[in-house]
Amino acid sequence: MTQTRRTFLHAATMAAGAVTILPHAARAANHSGDTFSTDAGDITVHPVEHASFVMETPAGVIYCDPVGAASLYEGMPSPDLILITHEHGDHYNAETLTALMTDGTELLTNPAVYEMLPDDLKSKATSIGNGESTEIAGVPIDAIAAYNMTEGRENFHPEGRDNGYILNFEGFRVYISGDTEDTPEMRALSDIDLAFLCMNLPYTMDAQAAASAVADFRPTYVYPYHYRGQDGGTQDPEDFASMVSDAVQVKMGNWYPDGTG
Ligand code: ZN
Ligand code: ZN
Repeated sequence: MTQTRRTFLHAATMAAGAVTILPHAARAANHSGDTFSTDAGDITVHPVEHASFVMETPAGVIYCDPVGAASLYEGMPSPDLILITHEHGDHYNAETLTALMTDGTELLTNPAVYEMLPDDLKSKATSIGNGESTEIAGVPIDAIAAYNMTEGRENFHPEGRDNGYILNFEGFRVYISGDTEDTPEMRALSDIDLAFLCMNLPYTMDAQAAASAVADFRPTYVYPYHYRGQDGGTQDPEDFASMVSDAVQVKMGNWYPDGTG
């Protein structure tokens, strides 16, 4: 982890702290989400912050990469399943998990995070690596490779370590990119109904690369997320939307409720 990354994460932590003192109405606004009708039932997406979000699904409530103060999740139903893509502080925080998990919560991580889990969390966890699959609460889940390809950036997310996920709700396929560039694995995806696509520099990819990947795998809906970066690396989701074909619906979420994104 570089110094700049640590600084960024510290800033993110400060921002999360600031959110906790917002009036209840402001928090509730952040929890408003989009609902997608599927053959399995409705899926409602609630962006929380940066890479963290909650999905209410017919198979239960799924939290993805929840970090930050537990108060960020106030008013949300408890998680039945938590997905962790990788070990960086904007995706994995053991204290947040301990605060959010109930006796019935299952935890799915990549193998590297599994190894670093405290024992009490590990007892509720399973891990799958790139290319592996599992099924939780009747939902088939595939782990998709998530990594950097650009020379000099490979160490941010080394190939083979971190996960994206595809969840299949009776044919409605949700892709969560995790932190990655526009890899061949991403471009080869098909039949994605809803995608969450990261974009920031230097850690993942720029909006142009993300739009180029979308032209290949053509999800029905795509949320740009994880788009605040470091040293000018913040990507504008509107730029991304302008580069994406009209055949793909770009969904905007309130990913930076403190207004600095
Ligand atoms: Zn990362
Ligand atoms: Zn990240």
